Amino acid sequence: MSVVVTRYRGGGPQYMNASSTSPKPVVGEPSIRTHALHALAYCERLFYLEEVEELRVADAAVFAGRRLHVQLQEEGEHVELELASEALGLHGRVDAVKTREGTLVVYEHKRGRHAPGGDAPEAWPSDRLQAGAYALLVEERFPGAPVECRVRYHQTDTTVRFPLDAALRGAVVAAVARARLLRASRERPPVTQEERKCAKCSLAPVCLPEEERQVVGEERPRLFPEDDVRQVLHVATPGTRVGRAAEELVVTPPEGEGAPSRQPGRMVSALIAHGAVQVSAQALAYCVENDIGVHWFTSGGRYLGGLGGGAGNVHRRLRQFEALRQASVCLGLARRLVAAKLEGQLRFLLRASRGDSESRQVLASAVRDLRALLPKCEEAPSLEVLLGLEGAGAARYFGALPYLQGEDVDTRLRFEGRNRRPPRDRFNAVLGFLFGLVHREVEAAIRAVGLDVAFGFYHQPRGTAGPLGLDVMELFRVPLADMPLVASVNRRAWDADADFEVTSEHVWLSKAGRAKAIELYERRKRETWKNNVLGYSLSYARLVELEVRLLEKEWTGKPGLFATFRLR
Ligand code: SF4
Repeated sequence: MSVVVTRYRGGGPQYMNASSTSPKPVVGEPSIRTHALHALAYCERLFYLEEVEELRVADAAVFAGRRLHVQLQEEGEHVELELASEALGLHGRVDAVKTREGTLVVYEHKRGRHAPGGDAPEAWPSDRLQAGAYALLVEERFPGAPVECRVRYHQTDTTVRFPLDAALRGAVVAAVARARLLRASRERPPVTQEERKCAKCSLAPVCLPEEERQVVGEERPRLFPEDDVRQVLHVATPGTRVGRAAEELVVTPPEGEGAPSRQPGRMVSALIAHGAVQVSAQALAYCVENDIGVHWFTSGGRYLGGLGGGAGNVHRRLRQFEALRQASVCLGLARRLVAAKLEGQLRFLLRASRGDSESRQVLASAVRDLRALLPKCEEAPSLEVLLGLEGAGAARYFGALPYLQGEDVDTRLRFEGRNRRPPRDRFNAVLGFLFGLVHREVEAAIRAVGLDVAFGFYHQPRGTAGPLGLDVMELFRVPLADMPLVASVNRRAWDADADFEVTSEHVWLSKAGRAKAIELYERRKRETWKNNVLGYSLSYARLVELEVRLLEKEWTGKPGLFATFRLR
């Protein structure tokens, strides 16, 4: 291992160059996490998202950093020391402090590479700031002893040494002051100008920097992941129990229905209980702790609600409430939403390639009428007018939908009009079930983003369904429910007897039918598709979350991207 001595070099944000010989006491306010100064020096928006909005995403680099610290502890290299100072306004856990010839040496371990220097390797400005903050805490705890900083970069096996000099002291004091200012602000800072930083930032999928920059018309790389590698665990057999064993969820079917199965918790994004399924308190606690959403459906497919995934603090909701209390904001968003829904229906009808001339005439006429409604959405003076336009569009769309079905489709699976609560035919039984799954997907995404499902911009509160969930769901009814269902009926994927339970009052999906609908939906969600506005491919599952994040950008960043995607 080489050891390199360097002097402090500025180069980060403005406060990195501030000069002061001693920290100014700041009393009374909650202190700043020392680690947060690292984020602050990297990007002020990152600091704000983590410290103010309480968003944290553990990506591969974060896990690797945690593993390094565990390894160092096991090797006896890493002795954490908790320190706090009201005068400095800081608290934190220093990696290690050692005595070297009468000097207290503060060690900070980093997994990556050192910064390139002129004559010798350098520490990155954010690492210097963090180590300097720890050094000030150590100096206060052990007064009188000289203190030095060392940052060890494990990838390059180098250690960079630098003194706790006046410039570094001043930089820490200025950074704490800046952090406090940002913490008190309701405004999220803009994305960093240094774009290369975003490619390495764990919060890029939440921050969406390239989407924000793209609004000004430049081509950008995509940082939003194409798909979520974790699976949704559906439990649809009545009487099944879900428990926990160490880091796994254990699904035990009722007696005589097979052996228990185990799912590693890290591979599960959500647990969905359909009907009479028991989830143990231990499994629930594990899910909440590990950011695994838990959702309940009735056996008939109605979404009852869910737990978990509530990222972010009150600031995000306050901004949502402030924005959506303005009638003009709601109307603008609702116009775009209804136009997107009508255009989705129109594009689906345009795909029809089957049928006789009568079918084609009906479809062409419906397409014409839907197209005529689009400009009216842009000019709609009120939500009531939009509701009327949406209703007119639905009548034309559902009137034409039977003409998308093949002539050889079992008559019992033909669509002859929308009905629900309860569904009275097989097509509507599946459609209602799929809508329930879409609703769950959207509500989970809204919670994950940290918004309140109860505060929407178009739908009015009704039942247990949150208006914002119902709003956003309008974008996904066609691609996630109508399209896969019509396609599956046309390829005769359904058994009109075995997949349904039919009474004179209603038609429900049978156990086999539910399993088929779940598989159809999950497969559809994983299909990737190129976003026409952002120019990159992503799965429908990710698209739902992306749309919710773009909705939030309508009031926290650059507006104009929500509800602009279109089906091919
Ligand atoms: S993605 Fe870029 S702009 Fe957003 S927080 Fe990270 S570094 Fe900052």
